[in-house]
Amino acid sequence: MAVSSLVDSRDVRFTLFEMLEVEKLNRFEAFKDFDRSVYEDTLKLAEKIAFEQFHPSNVDGDRIGLKFDAAKNEVKVPESFHKAFNAYLEAGFHVLQFPQEMGGMGIPNAVATAAAEYFNAGNTALTMYCGSITGAIQIIQTFGSEEVKNMFIPKMMEGKWGGTMCLTEPSAGSDLGALKSKAVRQPDGTFLITGQKIFISNGEQDMTENIIHPVLARIEGDPEGTKGISIFIVPKFLVNPDGTLGARNDMVCAGIEHKMGLKGNATSTLSFGENGKCVGYLLGKEREGMKVMFMLMNAARIHTGLQAEAVSSAAYMHAVDYAKDRIQGTHITQSMNKAAPRVAIIEHPDVKRMLLYMKSTIEGMRMLCLFLSYHEDVEHASTSENEKKESTGIVEILTPIVKAGISDAGWLVTAEAMQVFGGYGYCQEYPVEQYARDVKVFSIYEGTNAIQSMDLLMRKMLMNPEMYNYKMLRKHMAEAVAKARGVVDEKYITPVEKGMEKLDEIINMMAGQLMGGQILELAANATPLQQAMFILTLAWLHLWSLTITLPKSKALLGDAKGEDLKKLLQTNPEAAYYSGRVLSSQFYIGAEFPKFFGRIDCIVNNEASVATVEPENFT
Ligand SMILES: Cc1cc2nc3c(=O)[nH]c(=O)nc-3n(C[C@H](O)[C@H](O)[C@H](O)COP(=O)(O)OP(=O)(O)OC[C@H]3O[C@@H](n4cnc5c(N)ncnc54)[C@H](O)[C@@H]3O)c2cc1C
Repeated sequence: MAVSSLVDSRDVRFTLFEMLEVEKLNRFEAFKDFDRSVYEDTLKLAEKIAFEQFHPSNVDGDRIGLKFDAAKNEVKVPESFHKAFNAYLEAGFHVLQFPQEMGGMGIPNAVATAAAEYFNAGNTALTMYCGSITGAIQIIQTFGSEEVKNMFIPKMMEGKWGGTMCLTEPSAGSDLGALKSKAVRQPDGTFLITGQKIFISNGEQDMTENIIHPVLARIEGDPEGTKGISIFIVPKFLVNPDGTLGARNDMVCAGIEHKMGLKGNATSTLSFGENGKCVGYLLGKEREGMKVMFMLMNAARIHTGLQAEAVSSAAYMHAVDYAKDRIQGTHITQSMNKAAPRVAIIEHPDVKRMLLYMKSTIEGMRMLCLFLSYHEDVEHASTSENEKKESTGIVEILTPIVKAGISDAGWLVTAEAMQVFGGYGYCQEYPVEQYARDVKVFSIYEGTNAIQSMDLLMRKMLMNPEMYNYKMLRKHMAEAVAKARGVVDEKYITPVEKGMEKLDEIINMMAGQLMGGQILELAANATPLQQAMFILTLAWLHLWSLTITLPKSKALLGDAKGEDLKKLLQTNPEAAYYSGRVLSSQFYIGAEFPKFFGRIDCIVNNEASVATVEPENFT
């Protein structure tokens, strides 16, 4: 049994072209040359490379894994990674969004994000090596001096040099201000870097001839905490004036982690300046390292949400395929009939429930990722200050929801996919157990989900002037409710509307707590709030999509019922898609959304145990 696809391409098209109408981005100068056919070609090529090359290599990353050579401090990735990596680079996916003047293709972020879903569903560990090149180029291009840009960007644009992001240290995980890496100024303007970074994704590999590390460190004499942090570009190999590779820099990969999942990606310990000769180039201004790194981190947080969505999608597609194939039991309506034929498990209501839960959550996560990416495009390309500001507000508030909400949901969705497989799901014969192991880390890295929840509540909402970001999100939600009236059954509109009102109330209450200095209560409720907002966000997007899918579904199905309906669904893929999408949205609002009120009640009840409990109580 082999799936024919890891991503529902019809749903990708629906979200991009019917909901977001991304073709209309060509109203902006930056995207004026693009039309639907360019986007289709991009998506088709992404799907082809991802399915034919990334997907088969995924199991190699898990089973063959990485080989660390301690004598040479080198990491070898599985052979199949090289071919897939090269196909990705040759097709130019690492420079898809960069402007054409830079040698990129200038494709809107929304389309690039949709393309990235295919690669992450195929092999997310490998996609990380690819994406790290894009991220490093982005910060060097934005903050680098001409010298630094010329030294690194051309080879990275060619895909010949890889990238990383080096923040974490043994004593500086969530608390980056505690980092100890040091930078000492040299007369020629460069810096000598010493320190150790741990858990660095893509930290060592044999797919590119050089690796460019953006490294957070403190210049000698600079203040403690995040305000004293600067950022440096530290190449694995130094670069000669003519752009060729020079001597080995004084930095090594001291080892790689042995992890539960994501085994194809080298989570490395990097040691800088053991011989006092590790050269680094300042990026941006001194002590502004966090500002520069935030550009990379924000993009990486959105990408982490997308990773979780894509891996969930791959798990779901396998689960659907298995459920259609696995014969077990009789139809529930025939349970008293001893002669009844055995049916595929997809006929059982509980299996349908599991699949609908997965389908509706994944479609919601996809809408969320693409909606956010679309607003990044508007933020970047619009000439209207007002429009830009509104989109910035949306990007700001949705980034922690994408990162935390989707990564937590991804863990649940992949677990449900295992459940569909029964005992086989727990065994290596099928890929779903790998997906579940791979997906877990997304709630941990790029800032744990606790850190995201605090960011959402405090920085993105309560401390955001006049709660502008929240108002922008609410505005979009209110528009969807207004549009749904008269099209969608009130039974799906009313709960979402009530949820929005409830959220307003809670946020006002929390703003009062901030004024009253009840910081403990706020911190204790940050995660429940984030979880509630994730569920409401998905319900809102499902409501919006219903206003489009319902009329189309009705038109395609007509009055068909019973056997006629079944035949129609079997012969008309569009009818099957739209009616399935309607049921999925209705399921999300009707059966999943009530969880929102549970999360909100947890805040309203003002249950004081979290704020009161002491370490000693955990006996
Ligand atoms: C596979 C993998 C890849 C990674 N890739 C990279 C990379 O490329 N670059 C990089 O720099 N780092 C990377 N990391 C590191 C990752 O970002 C950190 O693990 C993460 O930030 C958490 O830090 P920590 O592990 O030290 O946990 P800790 O900070 O010790 O946190 C432990 C627990 O305490 C909670 N906690 C801590 N502080 C607070 C607080 N103030 N409020 C509430 N709760 C809190 C956390 O939420 C968590 O649940 C990677 C990690 C892994 C596992």
